[in-house]
Amino acid sequence: MANNRATYNQKVIDEWAKQVARRSRGLGRVHLVLVIAVVLLLALIFMFTRPELVVVFFFLAAALVVTQVLDRFTLLCPNCKRSPISWFPRGTAEDADFCVHCFYWLKSPYANGKQAKV
Ligand SMILES: [Zn+2]
Repeated sequence: MANNRATYNQKVIDEWAKQVARRSRGLGRVHLVLVIAVVLLLALIFMFTRPELVVVFFFLAAALVVTQVLDRFTLLCPNCKRSPISWFPRGTAEDADFCVHCFYWLKSPYANGKQAKV
């Protein structure tokens, strides 16, 4: 029970929201284009079975992995400046609700991003 603590700081939550918005405009678009290209290419490989397509597929898949790794090093917790996810996360850093290192909330735990009155 000693680790069940989380710190609420509106500045950290606001800064995280800015980082995620910046990421969505930049790397997020590249990531989306790569995902669509990989899926389309996979369909083409099944239809035409050409070895050139397989090579292109592996390059695009590698680029997709690189964007995931870049996410890990660019989306950092505003409080402790470390990646807010563990080494084997279930989702991306963008999906994190709190930082696993300093236990600061990255998204408001309350409805609509407003602090609840106690
Ligand atoms: Zn942190």
